Amino acid sequence: MEPILEIKNLTCGYQQEPVFTKINLKLYPGQLSGLVGPSGSGKSTLMKAILGLIRPWGGEIWFRGKKLNPGVAPLKVGYVPQVETVDWNFPVTAEEVVMMGRYQRKQLLPWASSSDRAAAKRLLSRLGVANVAHQPIGELSGGQQQRVFLARALVGQPDIVILDEPTSSSDLHVQHELLHLLADLNQEGLTILLSTHDLNSVATHLPWVVCFNHGIISQGQPIDVFTPATLEQTFGAEMVVF
Ligand code: ADP
Ligand code: MG
Repeated sequence: MEPILEIKNLTCGYQQEPVFTKINLKLYPGQLSGLVGPSGSGKSTLMKAILGLIRPWGGEIWFRGKKLNPGVAPLKVGYVPQVETVDWNFPVTAEEVVMMGRYQRKQLLPWASSSDRAAAKRLLSRLGVANVAHQPIGELSGGQQQRVFLARALVGQPDIVILDEPTSSSDLHVQHELLHLLADLNQEGLTILLSTHDLNSVATHLPWVVCFNHGIISQGQPIDVFTPATLEQTFGAEMVVF
């Protein structure tokens, strides 16, 4: 099978400082994978490079057999940013946030066709948050915002969705609900890559994990990958309790 996403010799950094150097990674259609590593290990940087939000120093990113232009947002890649990094100091409703997902980044919104609205409603409903459609996004809980953002990512009918730390700001119950939802969407054919620094309640529930700390350390099913040696290499000795 051809990979849906292939990272080749990718190097990214900020100012003079590299975050990771010449990494290689393949993701296949239908995978639900977790990029697992501690805070500051470069997970968001890798995701932003895939999303064209930062320009890599070197290497290539291939999506469905085509090389992406560095720093350009690929079509058909949905993105759910880390919820707590979003500042909601403007009045839009949940439904409007979802409708934005029907348009390319930087495109002015031609407010908004009835089919946009219908698609937004359908997705909010599918994700269990139809009841908040007309509420301002800033007034929703973290878990509700997350679902609104997931709806926004899905409304463009992406081939893959990238979620940055989708579980980091929620309690265990909400985390597991989200993981169930993602597993359902994955069963329906969606390819998913999420990042997490949570080894206990998130990473072990994923079918495929990529251990990451300024580079790829190991990947596979959690039961095979989460060995003491790999965990120590990923999280450092003091983080791991045997
Ligand atoms: P993670 O998502 O795993 O927590 P990040 O990719 O956010 O890691 O960060 C990796 C490293 O890059 C960290 O040392 C972080 O401080 C640094 N970094 C992230 N964003 C920037 C930025 N915009 N400018 C400078 N350094 C950054
Ligand atoms: Mg991050």
